[in-house]
Amino acid sequence: MINMKLAEERGLDEETIEKIQLCQGFMDDVLSNPDMLIDDPMDVASCIEECEFKLQGLWGFEQSKKFHRYAFDVKWCRCPKIDNLEMAGWTDKRYINAECPYHGAFPAETWDDERFK
Ligand SMILES: [Zn+2]
Repeated sequence: MINMKLAEERGLDEETIEKIQLCQGFMDDVLSNPDMLIDDPMDVASCIEECEFKLQGLWGFEQSKKFHRYAFDVKWCRCPKIDNLEMAGWTDKRYINAECPYHGAFPAETWDDERFK
């Protein structure tokens, strides 16, 4: 669900609200079932980033990585979530776990990677 009070405050029209709902819904699906929706696990991080930029644009906010906060909510991500949430809004730096199959030192190339078991 999107924040309708905020949508009203920002003067968003119905069409924009609908686009936000679609985009947010797609991103939520990707976060919970990345292996069902994206063929290549190496594309997951960029797909989420694209959704975040698109959402920022639809909301009429500055399109900046500094405010991104969903990247680490994706299933099987091993990066520190709370620490990264605290960074959002302050900097585009994020903490990475080297073992993470998406963001780590050795990204998984297929969904058969043992880190997805
Ligand atoms: Zn990660």
